[in-house]
Amino acid sequence: MYKNAVVTGSSRGIGAAIAEALAKDGWGVCINYIEQQEKAEALVQKLRAQGCRCICVKADVSVKEEVDRMFALAQCELGEIGLLVNNAGISCHLQFQDTTADIWKRVMDVNLGGCYNCIQAALPSMLHEHEGIIVNMASIWGLHGGSCESAYTASKHAVVGLTRSLSAELAPSHIRVNAIAPGVIRTDMMAQELDEEQLEELMGEMPLERFGTPEDVAQTLMYLVKAEYVTGQVIKIDGGFMI
Ligand code: NAP
Repeated sequence: MYKNAVVTGSSRGIGAAIAEALAKDGWGVCINYIEQQEKAEALVQKLRAQGCRCICVKADVSVKEEVDRMFALAQCELGEIGLLVNNAGISCHLQFQDTTADIWKRVMDVNLGGCYNCIQAALPSMLHEHEGIIVNMASIWGLHGGSCESAYTASKHAVVGLTRSLSAELAPSHIRVNAIAPGVIRTDMMAQELDEEQLEELMGEMPLERFGTPEDVAQTLMYLVKAEYVTGQVIKIDGGFMI
């Protein structure tokens, strides 16, 4: 297995914690961002200082040409990509009737189309090597439904369906495809969705009496990377929120 990974949306939040965990485990890492160049570059410097082979590439995962360019750069700088983490995603907290066609399309293009573009770019090399690992970032809203989450929920259910279907198709090629379904994880995305009062109220519903951290999700990612007999699974990591 080529120990090189592309982690989309890794300038901050869950993706950054995943990049750090992979770097600690000796993986070469391609960090990806869309806007926050400074954060991405700061993370590259930090990981390089720890001895990690690391680059960052600006690419909108919803744009095929940008994704193809990112994979070409990553392959050139790091080598063949053995692990793809489809983490980049955007949230959308709106009533359905306020979700315009443009908003709906953007959520689908990034959350689902991003997975499509990146998997298409990663697959030729994985199929050639007859091995590879793909982990898609779903959500508990990929397994359950929630009010004011229709676009996001539909996109994450689709990510779960893609994961299950592709895992069956790619197992004979020794490419494992799994998904992670986080609950409430303290990142910018959460801060953007809920104010402190709403978060406090939500905290009361957490059986493990805390929100998750990006590091909790990274720990699950590392499990999936190493679990050689696990494919087609969606691992919920939500502190017991939705049982
Ligand atoms: P976040 O803090 O908002 O960070 C989002 C990351 O994705 C950033 O690195 C951002 O880049 C990047 N990004 C956004 N749109 C992109 C695009 N079109 N192309 C490339 N990169 C893009 O999000 P997070 O909370 O870490 O969430 C990461 C993943 O976990 C998402 O798929 C999300 O749906 C899922 N998730 C999160 C939670 C949670 O509670 N936080 C729960 C369930 C699932 P810039 O920094 O350049 O903007």
